[in-house]
Amino acid sequence: MQIREGGYSVVYDPSDFSADTVIINTCGFINDAKEQSIDTILRFVKASQAGEINNLYVMGCLSERYMDALKTEIPEVKKYFGVNNMNLILQELGIGLKKEQIYERILTGPGHYAYLKVSEGCDRKCSFCSIPLIRGKCISRPIEELTREAAYLAGQGVKELILIAQDLSYYGLDLYKTQKLPELITELLKIESFEWIRLHYLYPANFPEEVFSLMQNNPRICRYIDIPIQHISGKMLEIMKRSHYENGTRRFLNKIRKELPGAAIRTTLIAGHPGETEKEFNELKEFISEFRFDRLGVFAYSHEEGTYSYDNYNDDISQNVKESRVAELMSIQQSVSEELNREKTGKVFKVLIDRRDAEYFVGRTEFDSPEVDNEVLISTEYNLIPGNFYNIKIIGSSDFDLFGIPED
Ligand code: SF4
Repeated sequence: MQIREGGYSVVYDPSDFSADTVIINTCGFINDAKEQSIDTILRFVKASQAGEINNLYVMGCLSERYMDALKTEIPEVKKYFGVNNMNLILQELGIGLKKEQIYERILTGPGHYAYLKVSEGCDRKCSFCSIPLIRGKCISRPIEELTREAAYLAGQGVKELILIAQDLSYYGLDLYKTQKLPELITELLKIESFEWIRLHYLYPANFPEEVFSLMQNNPRICRYIDIPIQHISGKMLEIMKRSHYENGTRRFLNKIRKELPGAAIRTTLIAGHPGETEKEFNELKEFISEFRFDRLGVFAYSHEEGTYSYDNYNDDISQNVKESRVAELMSIQQSVSEELNREKTGKVFKVLIDRRDAEYFVGRTEFDSPEVDNEVLISTEYNLIPGNFYNIKIIGSSDFDLFGIPED
């Protein structure tokens, strides 16, 4: 928003090479993300060499982590910035930072949902993870600042507010010396135009359990728990330096099912971390078949410089094996998801319509987050409006999608 107020016309379109100035925000925590970031930079370097772009800037995690190497390898970029350099970017563009407008931002998504970053960084020490190296220790934003930004977003028409943090369970501990997620949610619920509040990335250990009763008593908090467990084998959880080992993880997942029956549980896993033999991998496969996570993502282990795993283990599982393990886990999940979706046929859900595609309006239930989860497809013969909620009856399903019709 400050860039727009500074006199620039701002667009967000990674396929648009016609801008005078381009700022690329990068990600760099695993290999795939780094490759994607570098591909994007190189596409824009080409456009800049062809004279289509005058000023090419790069910011974010990749440039924070590899600033010197990038300056040497891709000198065509005019300037690199790290992760917390908003002030320097504005200076470069000839704009003075306006502190009073710090909460105002341009929504790059469809406008009816928005993310609210409640803290930055992470205090945990998972052995494989480069995030604390890039983002540092957890810095929570004060509740007043977050409610002010949330009120601004509500004023822009946002109906679904998605709280994100590397570790939402930890929120507040650095700033208030006690976990404050329940208090933060309570404040945000006072903003009535948010019909849905969604929580992303809860760490299983030291989870603030008052969140369960808040969810039980407030239907506006999506019954959706995104809790990355990474693995289930006791040996692997220990190697990965997770503070919750096998029994604790199993106990906690069962507790979620007991406290919040019907809630969607999403998790992410890592396949191919050093030390994972067929035995541990089989334990993981059995567990995901049995537990039936509603949503699941799997990453192939990426050997990241500076992490404990990088310094202490050999990356001795081949890329082929890692990828075939990812595929095996995803194929189990595909069957689980197909079964779970089939069980929804005939039921009615509140659905938020995200967009209109060629044949369908595409929406989501409270059990699905944008871009990563399942969608509900409704024929365009019905007259629906993106950004609005409808009661939709499920009339069919596939592995990752539901098909529905509006309920009168
Ligand atoms: S909790 Fe998440 S962000 Fe923090 S170190 Fe572990 S994996 Fe990384």
